[in-house]
Amino acid sequence: MKIKFLGTAAAEGLPAVFCNCSVCTRAKAAGGKDLRTRSQILIDDSMLIDFPMDTYMHTVANKLDLSRIENVFITHAHMDHCYPMELVLRGAPYAHYMTVPILNVYGNATVIKRIKRQTADELEPAAKKSLALKILKPYDSVRAGRYAVTALPAVHTKGENCFIYLVEKPGTAFMQFNDSGILPDSVYEFLAGRSVKLDAVSFDCTYGYLKKGPGRHMGMLDNAGERERMKKFGIVKDSAKYILTHFSHNGGLLHGELEEKCKESGFIAAYDNFSITI
Ligand SMILES: [Zn+2]
Ligand SMILES: [Zn+2]
Ligand SMILES: [Zn+2]
Repeated sequence: MKIKFLGTAAAEGLPAVFCNCSVCTRAKAAGGKDLRTRSQILIDDSMLIDFPMDTYMHTVANKLDLSRIENVFITHAHMDHCYPMELVLRGAPYAHYMTVPILNVYGNATVIKRIKRQTADELEPAAKKSLALKILKPYDSVRAGRYAVTALPAVHTKGENCFIYLVEKPGTAFMQFNDSGILPDSVYEFLAGRSVKLDAVSFDCTYGYLKKGPGRHMGMLDNAGERERMKKFGIVKDSAKYILTHFSHNGGLLHGELEEKCKESGFIAAYDNFSITI
């Protein structure tokens, strides 16, 4: 399974859209790996996790045929993970000769309601016909092409079933956290009960190296705690890779500084277009 991190920033981007803090100023001047777009993951060139406003930029930067994607799994309704208006353009006269006729869009009830509401005024029949909107509930598992995808409950927004996704294909398992705080035991017990052995995990690292305590995001110190819990529950392979993403300027670190911290703690700091094969 090839996992490509198309975007690795939190909601505001890095540099943040309107910000002049020292991290954003230094990131803008440095360019390269310090420029981060909104978080999105591409699996094997056929499946996406999240659909931010930077999806268009990701397709251009990676020469992607976006019409080839069969399944999009949206974690939650925040704007950096769910940008419905771009879906209006998936049909004539805005798009022709699409490789895959139908795009399945999965999300919780809030996500699907938001997509319907935001696109209502501009969604023309051709685009409407090319989208299949599907509501998931916590612990639902669906078959999507070669993959089994399970929606696990994240700790993020009250009143919304925010998800983290477990993506499995025979012999390989990947789990991503965008966006989530520290998980309750019940999620890990569920995975242990299913004998899941993860090859890779990507963590929400919004806070960089800052310790913020329990909340709706994590930093590297929280990620280290989650990694230990996952080992204790026996749900990760010894060879598992632990990748950090969804970075905010408020974490205070540029990519090189993050990498230094990662070296000490055995994590991999993702950057835009970083990919790993498991
Ligand atoms: Zn986010
Ligand atoms: Zn800033
Ligand atoms: Zn969020």
